[in-house]
Amino acid sequence: MRINALPSGNGFGFEISHAPEKSLARVGTISTPHGDIATPAFIPVGTKATVKAVLPETMKDLGAQALLSNAYHLYLQPGSDVLDEAGGLARFMNWPGPTFTDSGGFQVLSLGVGFKKVLAMDAQTFRSDEVVAGNKERLAHVDDEGVTFKSHIDGSMHRFTPEISMQVQHQIGADIIFAFDECTTLHNTRRYQEKALERTRAWGIRCLDEHQKLTLERSQKPYQALYGVIQGAQYEDLRKKAATDMAALRSTDPDSPIGFDGFGLGGALDKKTLGTILTWMNEILPAEKPRHLLGIGAPEDLFVGVENGIDTFDCVLASRIARTSAVYTMVGRNNLSNAINRRAFGPIDDECDCYTCAHYTKAYLHHVFRGKEIIAATLATIHNERFIVRLVDQMRAALIAGDYFEFKAEFMGRYKHLSGQARD
Ligand SMILES: [Zn+2]
Repeated sequence: MRINALPSGNGFGFEISHAPEKSLARVGTISTPHGDIATPAFIPVGTKATVKAVLPETMKDLGAQALLSNAYHLYLQPGSDVLDEAGGLARFMNWPGPTFTDSGGFQVLSLGVGFKKVLAMDAQTFRSDEVVAGNKERLAHVDDEGVTFKSHIDGSMHRFTPEISMQVQHQIGADIIFAFDECTTLHNTRRYQEKALERTRAWGIRCLDEHQKLTLERSQKPYQALYGVIQGAQYEDLRKKAATDMAALRSTDPDSPIGFDGFGLGGALDKKTLGTILTWMNEILPAEKPRHLLGIGAPEDLFVGVENGIDTFDCVLASRIARTSAVYTMVGRNNLSNAINRRAFGPIDDECDCYTCAHYTKAYLHHVFRGKEIIAATLATIHNERFIVRLVDQMRAALIAGDYFEFKAEFMGRYKHLSGQARD
């Protein structure tokens, strides 16, 4: 059943092939100038144009369809102009497929304002706008024009505005880029959330204007799709307002106003209410445009995302925890450094089809982690990324087969919860 298709004359498009009843889930294909993405899909994170410890060829082999890098980090090092000169992000890092970049809004604020990299997934009763500053020096200041921040690398001062974020992301050249937004935490006051939401809306128009101008100026370059970002924290009215506003937002060009090509669902999300919050937004957002859930990647959260209308996810968790010897298995998380693995001569997971599980034992991985060998990070990351990529692929297959909820019940019946939301 084909229910909707966007014109793909510019190389970007989204087509839904299955939209099962009784949920917001959909199966589709995002087309980009660098290739297609079968959705729902998990997009591994290569923050600084590399998935740490793993070759791009290996990421392709383990089933990654696209990679997500970060504009903030690439702007600071090596400089987005270097990526432009290199022919764009994909060519620069030898990745043979589609790429995404995050706008940098989350990073300038999280690194600068000092809220934890792992966003709080449990809302607390207490609200304050001071809590995010903690007792450390603030490295970022937000005003209506943009954000001034201090580089976490060398302490130099920089400024991101919606226009600069668009210029940086056009130079980096990813297929899918995000509007510059103000990301808040669950601890901000309601009043601050309202203010940040209005700022993100105003910045959205400026992003559309700059994106339209740059697309025309750089018409020889492959088309880049721009996603608007929906914020609003845990407030139903704010999330719905943000979805309504961002779906309707257009550039100010009177002759050919443009809107967003898709949407990023972002910000502070409480794990317990994730599904409800996604429903608030996805019942309003236009069905024919793709939706990306920013920074979510724990298995149980991926199910919640898929059945509530998410098409793509990114999360740095799979690779970050792999480097600390934590690996996913069908029955939950295992820590390869634990003594129990010293003589465990089987694979990390009997049911996994990854390269690591085909060739290496837990005992070997235990040994290389204990010895702090570089190969440990490589082998564990390959397994974790494959585990998550495959899990979402299996959800897609189950949606097509019509047995998604049976698949979910079987998986969740065995899997012990591993919580977390993380962005780099
Ligand atoms: Zn494996």
